[in-house]
Amino acid sequence: MQLQFFGAVREVTGSSHLLTVNNKNILLDCGMFQGRREDSMKKNRNLKCKPNKIDEVIVSHAHIDHSGNLPILVKNGFRGRIVCTHATKDLIKPMLEDSAHIQEQDAKYMKKHGVKFAESSEPLYTQEDVTETIKLLYGVHYNEKTKITDDVTLIFHDAGHILGSAIDELIINDEGKEKRLIFSGDLGRAGLPIIKDPEMIDKADYLIMESTYGNREHESVEQMGPQLAETINLTIKNGGKILIPSFALERTQEIVYHLNNLISEGVIPEIPIFVDSPLATTLTEVFREHTECYDEEIKKQFLESSENPFGLGRIKYTRSVAESKSLNQMHGPMIIIAGSGMAENGRIRHHLLNNLEDPKTCVVIVGYQAENTLGRKLIEGTSSAKIFGTVVQVRADVKVLSAFSAHGDMHDLDSFALHPQGLKKIFLVHGEAEQQDALAKRLSQKTNAEIIIPQERGDIFQL
Ligand SMILES: [Zn+2]
Repeated sequence: MQLQFFGAVREVTGSSHLLTVNNKNILLDCGMFQGRREDSMKKNRNLKCKPNKIDEVIVSHAHIDHSGNLPILVKNGFRGRIVCTHATKDLIKPMLEDSAHIQEQDAKYMKKHGVKFAESSEPLYTQEDVTETIKLLYGVHYNEKTKITDDVTLIFHDAGHILGSAIDELIINDEGKEKRLIFSGDLGRAGLPIIKDPEMIDKADYLIMESTYGNREHESVEQMGPQLAETINLTIKNGGKILIPSFALERTQEIVYHLNNLISEGVIPEIPIFVDSPLATTLTEVFREHTECYDEEIKKQFLESSENPFGLGRIKYTRSVAESKSLNQMHGPMIIIAGSGMAENGRIRHHLLNNLEDPKTCVVIVGYQAENTLGRKLIEGTSSAKIFGTVVQVRADVKVLSAFSAHGDMHDLDSFALHPQGLKKIFLVHGEAEQQDALAKRLSQKTNAEIIIPQERGDIFQL
């Protein structure tokens, strides 16, 4: 059997790995590359694998960097099953539809403005491609055996990262010998709200593990609520608006969950709260349905109180552009949660344009901000920002809440990698070089397993 790495090699995007057992090809994730436009578009158009030679795809979770290139695979001839958890199946549909929409809009914009980027003038895929992709999704339960090929059986375990996220455990018949391969997907953290904690796997021969925060320590999960409350109460005193750029999937629902609890407990006063994102609104509906993914705490809240933990009734979910625009006429204090998470596009940009010059405004950062994004510039203290061609002075307060992260930190990764008995090889993926090198060094001092970091897209390893 053999492993080949097509993405998330020395970077945190484009997760996609190929496992070949007895001439059957199983793709683990089919993620989109995100980052600098031209470079990413080039990589996305060249998946490196032959779609019609792939037998099955297993998707760890619904984030676009793990699922976003599925329609390209289908467009180019893949006809097998796309196996994922039931929650992931329901989340992927709106995520891919939104992705196709963004690309169609981008391509239109590029054409209209005569931008000469050959790679960007056509969308990677369209709504029709997404429709065909959705038909191939095959939902399964956690901790249930699913036959993938004659020689490979899959069991999904909780990854504790986002709703529906899974660790893939593959039980492989390799010429009469049973081998176990684990793919971590994205590993979450114990104690995150709403979802269950990541599971530990007891036994494995091979591990492919993410390494996003291979060399970083997070503030504790318990600080999420208090950090949020402190910032909100301060801004309320000043009478300003609180703007939270947020990823539509998981982070928005977590924030809503915290806000709802903080109000119920009387820690923050009841002020108007808006989730101004059609995608987040749709995804929150999926969250309400998948109670099987909930941890005990939120289950209890559902059973014991009449209040909905997603703030139904207390929090306003806006869909139409008119509703969104009407928020501009309103005065603070109020909270607006809107995408995108790094303030690069989406409705948050309108709110930033209208409120950044007001010193009473507070922009609350709750997620990773990549280089060159507006979110990153705000963190770095830029004095002005250009939004929709208009330069605005940044007089608003910008607060980074460091307790919010959906990825495990260095200690979580160490524990996960050191737990399984019998590990022979550990492959590190989904991390920048500095994070991976530190993690590899630490692990090699604590385990006898060989630590391998794939260096180039397409690297092959025989197992
Ligand atoms: Zn993820």
